[in-house]
Amino acid sequence: MSTLNPFAIAQQQLDEAAQRLGLDAATHELLRWPMKEYHFTLPVKMDSGATRIFKGFRVQYNAARGPTKGGIRWHPEETVDTVRALAAWMTWKTSVVDIPLGGGKGGIVCNPKEMSNGEKERLSRAYIRAVGRELGVHRDVPAPDVYTTPQIMAWMMDEYEVIMGYSHPGVITGKPLAVGGSEGRGDATARGGIYIVREAAKALNINVRNATYAIQGFGNAGQFAATLHPEILGGGTLIAATDSRGGVMNKDGLDAHALVKHKLETGALANFPNSKPISNEELLELQCDILYPAALEGVITARNAGNIKARLMCELANGPTVPDADKILFEKGVYVLPDFLANAGGVTVSYFEQVQNTYNYYWSLDEVQKQLDRKMTDAFKAVYDMAKKSRIHNRLAAYMVAVSRVAEACKIRGWV
Ligand code: NAD
Repeated sequence: MSTLNPFAIAQQQLDEAAQRLGLDAATHELLRWPMKEYHFTLPVKMDSGATRIFKGFRVQYNAARGPTKGGIRWHPEETVDTVRALAAWMTWKTSVVDIPLGGGKGGIVCNPKEMSNGEKERLSRAYIRAVGRELGVHRDVPAPDVYTTPQIMAWMMDEYEVIMGYSHPGVITGKPLAVGGSEGRGDATARGGIYIVREAAKALNINVRNATYAIQGFGNAGQFAATLHPEILGGGTLIAATDSRGGVMNKDGLDAHALVKHKLETGALANFPNSKPISNEELLELQCDILYPAALEGVITARNAGNIKARLMCELANGPTVPDADKILFEKGVYVLPDFLANAGGVTVSYFEQVQNTYNYYWSLDEVQKQLDRKMTDAFKAVYDMAKKSRIHNRLAAYMVAVSRVAEACKIRGWV
């Protein structure tokens, strides 16, 4: 992973859009920083009997368009700047898909792979004891992110309700169905991304049925992308996939469903039958039509962007491409569906979950998927039109669409 500061990147991306939009100095400065952030020190009893001290964060970046919303990431290398960057990207993401929410994000520095379920539950509850009073459907609503799960969301919701003394399922989304989750949330991020791959392929005249695809990162986003890609697009051949320990490839195709089963059973991609090993770096540079970065940020830089051979890149991960790489990809003709557009399906269905929790009436899976398709397709069209009109790359176009909406809300509220 790159050592570049993701928040400096998020600010740099905003600066370019602000300049293009001709934003006034006060609005620009307001949008460069989180409006609120919290730092926590969380003591947690471990199974050994010892107490361990964890660091946690919650950033409420901007609430001009509505209550803030964004996942909680558990990662050993989590930093407040990563959380700030992710919270900024959430602000642009909710705006580009035009849902009435702001952007936020949370994180805990920890390694869940080395923790028991009991330890994870106690850490989840400690986090909510620290931040709970700042959360709620009218304030800020967390959700899952890297290494956090529906089970963790359920513990967090439960702790919140214990503290507050009333039922409030909308305080957290990405919950299991049994405690107020939405149909269709599990695969929403990948599904939303593939809906716009479909739209982009139409615009670019790519025959998706015969296209090959490769996936970096094989967690929630990556696994669903593997199986949904051919289902939604009516065809396509998965030729490679990697996770944090490397991965596998076969130019003639990997069986996506069998690969997901293998990963779930063995915890890794290695040793999948009829495949060759491949590293994360090699996967990005593979000859393929559609590339899905679906792991972490900062993996596509000026160093490797020139070697990317995909025609279309759908960024399911947040922040996989650094700004210098964007220019190289644009000049090379790689059509990039930028992260906060491409992976907005997750927050869109999270928003639907929040809406269903609030009016206590639940939609069918078909309804959720129809509404998701409409939101993603409209967002793609807005970005596509902006990119075409201004002759700019899609990330800048997505920023211009999103930032102008947030700036308008700040102005109408009288903040600037
Ligand atoms: P996850 O925890 O389910 O999976 C993460 C995957 O990335 C795992 O397979 C892990 O092995 C792999 N990984 C970790 N470090 C890696 C490395 N150095 N190289 C290659 N692979 C590595 O997480 P997820 O929910 O699938 O999230 C993945 C990305 O998608 C993140 O950037 C996240 O912010 C973004 N995202 C997820 C959602 C969602 O709804 N799940 C929504 C929006 C954005």
